[in-house]
Amino acid sequence: MTDPLLRGTDLRKSFGPTVALTGAGLALWPGEVVAVMGPSGSGKSTLLHCLAGIVQPDAGTVVYRGEVLSSMPDGPRSALRRSEFGFVFQFGQLVPELTCLENVALPLRLSGQRRRPAERLARDWLARLEVDDAADKRPGDVSGGQGQRVAVARALVASPKVIFADEPTGALDSFNGERVMTLLVDAAKRTNAAVLLVTHEPRVAAYSDREVIVRDGKSRQLDLEEAGLTG
Ligand code: ADP
Repeated sequence: MTDPLLRGTDLRKSFGPTVALTGAGLALWPGEVVAVMGPSGSGKSTLLHCLAGIVQPDAGTVVYRGEVLSSMPDGPRSALRRSEFGFVFQFGQLVPELTCLENVALPLRLSGQRRRPAERLARDWLARLEVDDAADKRPGDVSGGQGQRVAVARALVASPKVIFADEPTGALDSFNGERVMTLLVDAAKRTNAAVLLVTHEPRVAAYSDREVIVRDGKSRQLDLEEAGLTG
C-alpha cells in the first residue's frame, strides 16, 4: 500500500487535569472519506485539531506527506494548513461583514491571488455547491443550509488535499444535512481530496468509506464484523 497522506500516531493531549487523548491515531489516504465517531467528550475534535496542526499534541507524531507537523514551528505550520487543508465547522464561521462570494474567495486572496480570478473561481464553487444565488448576500441573510454550502465552497476553493469537517451538519435539519454531505463528498471525490469527518450521527457517517471510533481518548478502526455488516 502507498504511504498515507496524513498519519497521526500515539497522540496524547491533556488540557490541565483533563485527559483528551491518550494514545489515539489515524491514517488517511488520498481521496478517502473517514468518519471519526464516538460519544461526546471522547476526544474526536481534539484528534481532528491535532491532525490538522491546530493543536500541538503533548506526545505522539503527526506526519503530513513526510513532514512532521507535530514539531513544526507555528509559522510554517499555519502556512502549510492554509495551502493544504480546508475546514468546515458546525457553524459555518463565515465572516459576517463579507458577502458569501467574498467569503469563498478569501482563502485565495489570503494566499496572494488577485481579486478578479479569485472571485471567478469562488463563483464556480458556489455554482457547484448549488448556492450561486447567495453570492452577493451576507451570511446573515442566507439560510443555515445555504450558509453551510457556502462554507463547503470556501473549504474547497483552494484545492486542499485534506478537508477537515467537524460536525458539518450538526446545526442543520436532515434534508439540508444530507444535501451538504452529498455535495461535500462529491466535490472531494472529484478533486481526490481526503475528508476527515467528525460526527456522532450514524446517518452522516454513512457517507464515509470507513469509520474510526474514539472512546476515552483512544481510537480504533471499526471493523465490519463488529458493525454487523458481514455474514
Ligand atoms: P468530542 O469532540 O469527542 O466531543 P473533545 O475532543 O472536544 O471531545 O473533548 C475531549 C475532552 O477534552 C473533553 O473532556 C473536553 O471538555 C476537553 N477539552 C477539549 N478542548 C479543551 C480545551 N480547549 N480546554 C479544556 N478542555 C478541553
